[in-house]
Amino acid sequence: MDDDISPTDGRETFTKAPPVPFDPDARPHQPVRAAMLGEEPPAGLRIDDLGPADESEPRIRLALLGERFDDPIAPGSVRCVACAHRCVLRPSRVGLCGVHQNRGGLLYTLVYGQAVASQAEPIEKKPLYHFLPGSDAFSVATQGCNFHCSYCQNWHISQAHREGRVPESRYLAPEGVVEEAVAAGARSIAYTYTEPTVFLEYALDTMTRARAAGLRNVFVTNGYESLEALDLLVPYLDAANVDLKAANDDFYRRICGARWEPVRDTIVELRGRGVWVELTTLLIPGLNDDRDELRAMAEWIATALGPETPWHLTRFQPAYRLSGLEPTPAATLVDAARIAGEVGLRHVYVGNAPEVETATTSCARCGERLIGRADFAVTEWRLVEGRCPRCKHALAGVGLEDSPVVV
Ligand code: SF4
Repeated sequence: MDDDISPTDGRETFTKAPPVPFDPDARPHQPVRAAMLGEEPPAGLRIDDLGPADESEPRIRLALLGERFDDPIAPGSVRCVACAHRCVLRPSRVGLCGVHQNRGGLLYTLVYGQAVASQAEPIEKKPLYHFLPGSDAFSVATQGCNFHCSYCQNWHISQAHREGRVPESRYLAPEGVVEEAVAAGARSIAYTYTEPTVFLEYALDTMTRARAAGLRNVFVTNGYESLEALDLLVPYLDAANVDLKAANDDFYRRICGARWEPVRDTIVELRGRGVWVELTTLLIPGLNDDRDELRAMAEWIATALGPETPWHLTRFQPAYRLSGLEPTPAATLVDAARIAGEVGLRHVYVGNAPEVETATTSCARCGERLIGRADFAVTEWRLVEGRCPRCKHALAGVGLEDSPVVV
């Protein structure tokens, strides 16, 4: 995965919060839907209801997608429906992602505005090659993740709750994210490094403000969003790079603690709802590099999303619990790209492997060279109003009309 950041030291995690006593008089939990900028809050909900539980803890807020769960053994349980895990949280318990907690019978996010990373980067680093090429995306993340991939390169922030760490962070309100993005000259905000679905409330408040400031919104995601989360996010979401880790349930269950079908469905749903989608697969020796499985994956992409869907094949570097494995051989990456080409995929890129990197975009119809890249920068631009200069075929993507290359 290209979109990684360096580890920092940690201490005991704050998600091991002291238990909160169950309050039988707490307001019954209703599924809360976001009140967007310029809109009235949903009936019966004051906008302040989404505000801090305590002014001294601005990072703790009511979660948007919690609902009461009747458990006769554990009264006061709630269910989080932000992602396909649909965790049921007994009083004071924290969800699988480590950043949602049942406090007094209500579901809270523990990481609102608590940024562990915030920086402008080329959008090619997400990687997105067909969305505003050559522009910068202001990247932001909190800690936490709903997967626990054994090879995660950002484990120090994604798995902080499991590893007993508190990553360095700062409070950065949504308005602050947008201000810093504009000051950095970014054209989009990327919710990335960890799974943005688990900081949905923070992301959504930032997304609405980003749109108002003329910025686009990008998710780098594992594709485990629930339909309820997509309903909230998609109106403000312009593009997504989805990690397609494998196309089978066994890999997702053993390596990531998740399932394949919800990821498959989210990818199709995002595309069907008009979000620009690119896919990334990190090829791990012996785990997801079987040639037949790669062919099946490529066939699924071509059939479900179309042959002009960009697919990024990237080199695994030993990390976290798979530190003992070897990096992906160059030959495996080249072979995988060849298989994808045989299946008919038109935009296949090999990354994180300088000796065999393919970062050039060619015309899906005639093969003409259209966009050249080096080190995540656009170095050549041959599109004319978003089309191939030779055969006039329109390149699939968003924001391809203007050249970012100064000539
Ligand atoms: S976001 Fe997903 S993992 Fe986290 S509490 Fe909600 S359902 Fe569970």
